[in-house]
Amino acid sequence: MPRVYDRYVNEMQAIADLNYANAVLAWDNEVNIPAKASGLRSRQMASLASLAHGKFTDSSFGALLRRLEKMKSISELERKNIEHSLKDYKKSKKLSKAFVFKKSLAVSKAFDHWLKAKKANDYKIFAPALQELIDLSREEAEIYGYKEHAYDAMLELYEADLTTAALEPLFSDVKRDLIEIVKQIKPTKKKTTKFIKQKYNKDDQWNFGLGVLDSMGYDFDYGRQDLSAHPFTTSFGAEDVRVTTRVDENDLAYMLWSTIHEGGHALYEQGLPTDQYGLPLGSYVSLGIHESQSRLWENHVGRSKVFWKYHYPKLQKVFKKQLKGISLKQFCRAINAVTPSAIRTESDELHYHFHIMIRYEIERDIFSGKLEAKDLKKVWNKKYKDYLGLTIKDDNQGILQDIHWSHGSFGYFPTYSLGSFYAAQFYHTATKKNNKIEKAISRGNCKPLLNWLRKNIHQHGKRYSAAELCFNITGEPLNFKYFKDYASQKWLK
Ligand code: ZN
Repeated sequence: MPRVYDRYVNEMQAIADLNYANAVLAWDNEVNIPAKASGLRSRQMASLASLAHGKFTDSSFGALLRRLEKMKSISELERKNIEHSLKDYKKSKKLSKAFVFKKSLAVSKAFDHWLKAKKANDYKIFAPALQELIDLSREEAEIYGYKEHAYDAMLELYEADLTTAALEPLFSDVKRDLIEIVKQIKPTKKKTTKFIKQKYNKDDQWNFGLGVLDSMGYDFDYGRQDLSAHPFTTSFGAEDVRVTTRVDENDLAYMLWSTIHEGGHALYEQGLPTDQYGLPLGSYVSLGIHESQSRLWENHVGRSKVFWKYHYPKLQKVFKKQLKGISLKQFCRAINAVTPSAIRTESDELHYHFHIMIRYEIERDIFSGKLEAKDLKKVWNKKYKDYLGLTIKDDNQGILQDIHWSHGSFGYFPTYSLGSFYAAQFYHTATKKNNKIEKAISRGNCKPLLNWLRKNIHQHGKRYSAAELCFNITGEPLNFKYFKDYASQKWLK
């Protein structure tokens, strides 16, 4: 007789099939779609999404989950899957259809107004639509519920169990220590980085990027790379994980670090357990842990001298003219330049966290009722002055730069910083226990590092929470000290 648990697995895998099919459409939409075909595509994607959602939220599926929850004959891992699914199921039932519809209309409107505001470089055009989204998101937080802070309900959407109470001390460490470190670093002179921004042939860049992905251990038999306007990683299950990159003919850095960053995301997805296809345990832990993987590769590996010791001579061979007379040391200095910038996505890896802290503080104050949309521009500009010493020239350089709020995504930003902090702590642990890892990297062999990540992180899927995973691997909770040490080691020594 088939087990009741198998019915759950079949149902979850059918839902995953629909979601992954939808992901193929979304990938195609970014990579291949003909200029005038996107109207129909949105409709096709919405239909698939609603089919999957309908199956998952069906009350008969809920009854199955509740029945399994009480069963004693399931294993510990099976119980983990059921717990995750039941939590997601209960959550998905909280928002009424009417509310979801109302919010999706508000998002479309806000996104449209954000585009118009950007075009006119005028926040006033966006503010009223943003206020509607803020009001709806506050309502959403109340519907989901929270213990201490309404903002916690938003954080929970991207990082399970993350709370304002946990972020406060983390960002106060950032504020205290990072300001101190940044103060001691002389801003990088323009001429140090000038050679990066010259003409580099597109095809040569593309081919070099493929070689880097390959050396990281990205498996092209289970994935491929394409071009897209905004680089991203998407998975159709661990056996088909795609990455995209963008090649800027006048800036070598863009392709290199977006390729390595997305490669890091993709290695995580390719390493998830295939026997848990479609189930929570076959999925990544959280956005913060996902970002820890991309940033570990991008910053700790991809911006290190150890990595370039092997790759730089190869790069020099491809770009003889451009890199003539530039030593490995000069190259490494240029790729680790530190200069405050008004734009988050153009920021170096240290100042980056001030950008996140500013957004975090604003979001926190929105959800405690202290700030409304009309106040945000003034607060934004003041914080940039205080934390980064920058005068914001106009709204496009300031409050209009990110897409997140126009999508109603509040609570997303902190996961970027968490990713960097987890990355520093993980990389410290990996290399402290095993000096073979960096030795191998310097010879172009990233296998030992990848094996370590596979064993400690990837293969577990969602088996452990982010906090448990961090504790299991490093023996302590997330600690900003490791990022601080990494930063002082790299820039102050
Ligand atoms: Zn990322």
